[in-house]
Amino acid sequence: MKTSLFDLYKVGIGPSSSHTMGPMRAARTFLLALDARHLLASTVEVHADLYGSLALTGSGHGTDRAVILGLLGEEAATLDPETIDSKLEAIRLSSTLSLLGRHIVPFRESQHILFHRDQMIPPGTHTQHPNGIRFSAFDVTGASLFSATYFSIGGGFIVEDGADLNATPIMSTACLPYPFQSAAELLDMAKRDNLRIDEIMMRNECAHRGDTPDCADSVRRDIISIWEVMQSCVARGLATDGILPGGLRVRRRAKRLAARLQQQEAAGKGTGDPLAPLDWVTIYAMAVNEENAAGSRVVTAPTNGAAGVIPAVAHYYRNYIAGADEAGILRYFLTSAAIGILYKENASISGAEVGCQGEVGVACSMAAGGLAAAMGGTNAQVEHAAEIGMEHNLGMTCDPIGGLVQIPCIERNAMGAVKAVHACRMALAEEDEHKVSLDQVIRTMYETGLDMQSRYKETSLAGLALNVIEC
Ligand code: SF4
Repeated sequence: MKTSLFDLYKVGIGPSSSHTMGPMRAARTFLLALDARHLLASTVEVHADLYGSLALTGSGHGTDRAVILGLLGEEAATLDPETIDSKLEAIRLSSTLSLLGRHIVPFRESQHILFHRDQMIPPGTHTQHPNGIRFSAFDVTGASLFSATYFSIGGGFIVEDGADLNATPIMSTACLPYPFQSAAELLDMAKRDNLRIDEIMMRNECAHRGDTPDCADSVRRDIISIWEVMQSCVARGLATDGILPGGLRVRRRAKRLAARLQQQEAAGKGTGDPLAPLDWVTIYAMAVNEENAAGSRVVTAPTNGAAGVIPAVAHYYRNYIAGADEAGILRYFLTSAAIGILYKENASISGAEVGCQGEVGVACSMAAGGLAAAMGGTNAQVEHAAEIGMEHNLGMTCDPIGGLVQIPCIERNAMGAVKAVHACRMALAEEDEHKVSLDQVIRTMYETGLDMQSRYKETSLAGLALNVIEC
């Protein structure tokens, strides 16, 4: 087990973790490697070659912008989304780009960022993944100085060609007290030591930080800070209307729907409607994914495309569950992260690899299990909720219209969040053993994803992307 909670929950920018944050990180990683070889100063040209899903849906997902920002040396966690347009405009006007912010080279997007839409995998690579990106640096004679190929494997994670596809950037060499590889192992360890899943996660997170005396406090602080970024994202989404970028002319709806619901509540019309809280869950999720589609600040959870589910269900817990408190929020994030790690390490969280079941499906499963923990469910109920959350997302394809993370993505997050609440309620209503285990459903999701034709996996070549005319 290698992944930390903070690998899965990362502050970033929209619209896509695999197509925006991953390529941005790859571009910066390439330049840092170039610099480490003392080749930056002799570089006069840099190319980025995009393949597979990155080439097919890259322009809709903002991959070209992300590559440029990464070449500037920007990082998603610290980049102010408000400054992006002016940075890009300056590059376009000057036809130059400052590599890592300190070495200026000529740069034109049409010449230096190439979309190879007819090639799924970069030529000559060992890794078989549909999100490949190759960077090359050249000197003044046109000779190649250095080249490297990366794969953006979902959730903002990247690996270099030939590396372990499950590698993660915060991968710790720490010896974890609970190195669970499966849900069954996790449950066994918890039973043996009489711990909840969130307690197991906390002990592992502390080990990632060297088991310092204040490690538990620092993990708690960092989780709350992630939760605060999520709340700010929801608040911004609820306060913003207008048309989303990208040319599909999708109108933001969260603000309008929230105002309508508030008016109904103020007039007493919603009183007694037992499903009104679910309308709010829908709106919270849509608010986040509208912000994501606009390229704003979001938390990957576990991806950007699926970023609305976890915050929407956390808001539901805080606003609608009697006795909700910060301890419950911490249980929610720690437990949902344990579930996300099982998917990350045993299957995939990449829409380009396994379809939307690996993004919104995984987020739904994480949120369902997390909510069960927050509401005081047993470990078995947490596992059951997570299993239900995925079982009814199996087979879900990724077919974003126009390659934009808007339709079906925004509504799909709302549906994923509502489904997570329902999965949790089903699991909390029972204590008996259930037929399908979380491990079985994770394996099924992965195998189903591998069997899925690539045109249904973030290529916009089939499904809604084919049948709905863009206008
Ligand atoms: S359909 Fe799902 S996997 Fe595909 S881009 Fe949208 S949210 Fe991501």
